Amino acid sequence: ELDVVTFGETMVLFTSELMLPLEYNDRFYKQIGGAESNVAIGLRRLGHSVGWFSKLGNDPFGRYIHKFIRGEGVDTSRCIYTDEAPTGIFFKEKYSATNLKVYYYRKNSAASLLSPDDLDEDYIASAKILHLTGITPALSPTCRETVFKAIEIAKKNEVKIVFDPNIRLKLWDKEKAKSVLLEIAKEADIILPGLDEGEMLSGRKIPEEIADFFGKEKTVIIKIGEKGAYYQSKNESGYVEGFPVSQIVDPVGAGDGFAAGVISGILRNESIYSAVKRGNAVGAMAVGMSGDVEGLPRSEELEEFIKGVISLQD
Ligand code: ATP
Repeated sequence: ELDVVTFGETMVLFTSELMLPLEYNDRFYKQIGGAESNVAIGLRRLGHSVGWFSKLGNDPFGRYIHKFIRGEGVDTSRCIYTDEAPTGIFFKEKYSATNLKVYYYRKNSAASLLSPDDLDEDYIASAKILHLTGITPALSPTCRETVFKAIEIAKKNEVKIVFDPNIRLKLWDKEKAKSVLLEIAKEADIILPGLDEGEMLSGRKIPEEIADFFGKEKTVIIKIGEKGAYYQSKNESGYVEGFPVSQIVDPVGAGDGFAAGVISGILRNESIYSAVKRGNAVGAMAVGMSGDVEGLPRSEELEEFIKGVISLQD
């Protein structure tokens, strides 16, 4: 009886306190980072019931991630600990608010050991929506198999699939990424590419044409940064303007916030237009605060923001 189930790798993130190249920086603060857990936390804050799981290293970082996500009220009962590999970590180097670079230490991480046998079919079947990203299939062959097994379970049990391609070319080769991500997109009900991702996957440049490429029987929502998003579903299509952001503090995590907003709208049986507007609002709020999840709003905060009561300048 969950609204949404998602899974994938969440890592401990060490963010530079100083705007210096990583090799000269000696101050970091600890956060967590993972697209799927960002979406899970975003949805939970908006009042939905969410399950997130992963394979975690049996180490302090694995426990930290688990406690953090559970502490947000996300169901983590299907998380698995392993002694075979450590929890992945990564570092964020900052040159300015918008000029960031990340360094991953995630190869052969605990999460990369996720395999189809780790899936609890009844758990996935109990959800209304399965949220997947294109990061998980890039982590390892067994992770890829796990994604396809989860898709099979969702289809069999009429669980809707929301797919965010989240292309990470640091993790895999472009052609391989393209073919696997297109295969997943084919199975998804709702696809959430960024404009550049849509371009890469479809070979087309204009949002309308990219959406057509994926097909009219799907809901395709293309993120266009500060401009908002374009959506196309069976019966409707159009642009939804973004919300103004007075100061971009941290552009990372906007896409995950957007996904949480859109999924939340869908769960509330809103029109696609309203769901996309909700996505734009959460995305805009996420870029206005540091960290991937810190800026994600609770329901009341989101309603106020949409009504224009909250100005980020305050
Ligand atoms: P990410 O950097 O998290 O991977 P993304 O590339 O998937 O993000 P973006 O298009 O950058 O996606 O942002 C997602 C959504 O967040 C946008 O569609 C928009 O609604 C909102 N958003 C992002 N940047 C801004 C901005 N500068 N001003 C207002 N809204 C924004």
